[in-house]
Amino acid sequence: MVDYELAPEQQDLRATVASFARDVVAPVIGDYYERGEFPYDIVAGMGKLGLFGLPFPEEFGGMGGDFLTLCLAIEELARVDSSVAITLDAGVTLGAMPIFRFGTDEQRTRWLPELVAGERIAAFGLTEPDGGTDIPGTMRTTARLDGGEWVVNGTKAFITNAGTSITSLVTVLALSGNEGGEREISTIVIPSGTPGFHPAPKYSKVGWCASDTRELSFADCRVPAANLLGERGRGYAQFLRILDEGRVAISSLATGLAQGCVDECTRYANERISFGVPIGRHQAIAFKLADMAARVHAARLAWYDAAARLVAGVPFKKEAAIAKLLSSNAAMDNARDATQIFGGAGFMNESPVGRFYRDAKILEIGEGTSEVQRLLIARSLGVSG
Ligand SMILES: Cc1cc2nc3c(=O)[nH]c(=O)nc-3n(C[C@H](O)[C@H](O)[C@H](O)COP(=O)(O)OP(=O)(O)OC[C@H]3O[C@@H](n4cnc5c(N)ncnc54)[C@H](O)[C@@H]3O)c2cc1C
Repeated sequence: MVDYELAPEQQDLRATVASFARDVVAPVIGDYYERGEFPYDIVAGMGKLGLFGLPFPEEFGGMGGDFLTLCLAIEELARVDSSVAITLDAGVTLGAMPIFRFGTDEQRTRWLPELVAGERIAAFGLTEPDGGTDIPGTMRTTARLDGGEWVVNGTKAFITNAGTSITSLVTVLALSGNEGGEREISTIVIPSGTPGFHPAPKYSKVGWCASDTRELSFADCRVPAANLLGERGRGYAQFLRILDEGRVAISSLATGLAQGCVDECTRYANERISFGVPIGRHQAIAFKLADMAARVHAARLAWYDAAARLVAGVPFKKEAAIAKLLSSNAAMDNARDATQIFGGAGFMNESPVGRFYRDAKILEIGEGTSEVQRLLIARSLGVSG
């Protein structure tokens, strides 16, 4: 199982994305972030590079790569900026992937090509205002069949990529039945612009400020019965699969942020002088950097392991949870240490380190909180229900 040697084409892809992040993203992303603006031109650039098509077959316009290769790209983007990285991550793993994994041939042919090309993006509507962690228990959004159409009512909270001018659709998890108290959950595809589908203005967020996150409301929103994704009643199983995969991707993003902290601090520790020497010569700073590099290494091995299992088609739920827990810890710890190493400059929004600090926290919350990851790991040990 353990083979961490990347194929030459994976190494090339990683180098290409690293150049894109350095030359195209880094010079401008701070301004987008400050304005809270979605970076359409950067997203178009990622589309031209084929990044949104990385794990999809060529018949849909994809690059024919695999999930691990996608994660390599996400890690390289997150070394520079997490808003851009999460736009790709969510666009592929939460947006296009459910259509690819569970859609009919007709649904794939209709929706995948423009998502795979990065011309449009898609979103995944699971979380609701009453709760994300306990979503199967607290879900209120409903979908009922009426005259050959699904009629959807309800509200979804914190949905990424949901309200941009290039958002194609949202896959919405909804209660489609409640026979004898048995809650049936199904996934319905709702294209942007469908009457009754209302994205709220975007949230004001602590971090990921150049990514698009919105509350969505559905009021008697009608779509054809054919917009059911996969089988009726399979929504719960579908979102568990999508979230397991999503955790691997978000782990690569967290690892990228943690690595970005090391990159910035290594440079700064050699440049910034205090008491006549570069601050890296002070052991307190050098040891912090050593700890930061060690955390990145462990986080990267953890997500490589989970991704390799996913690609090999063997169980990876526990490994994905471990990777998510370790990498989000690494991101938080490294962001805090990096800000300390930069001193006052690290507290300025114009510094990448300031952005890393603001962007790290969500990694312990999104796609299952750290508490949820611990529950999953404990369950795999047979010590939790
Ligand atoms: C920027 C951003 C983007 C997001 N994008 C999306 C998206 O695209 N699609 C989507 O569907 N969702 C998205 N989310 C939602 C995200 O997945 C949820 O916020 C997350 O799952 C937590 O749910 P919650 O916020 O309702 O917290 P809650 O579920 O209310 O949890 C609150 C606290 O209680 C803890 N807790 C709850 N239950 C337990 C338990 N049994 N044991 C121990 N602790 C527990 C949690 O760990 C947490 O600390 C996004 C969120 C943000 C902030």
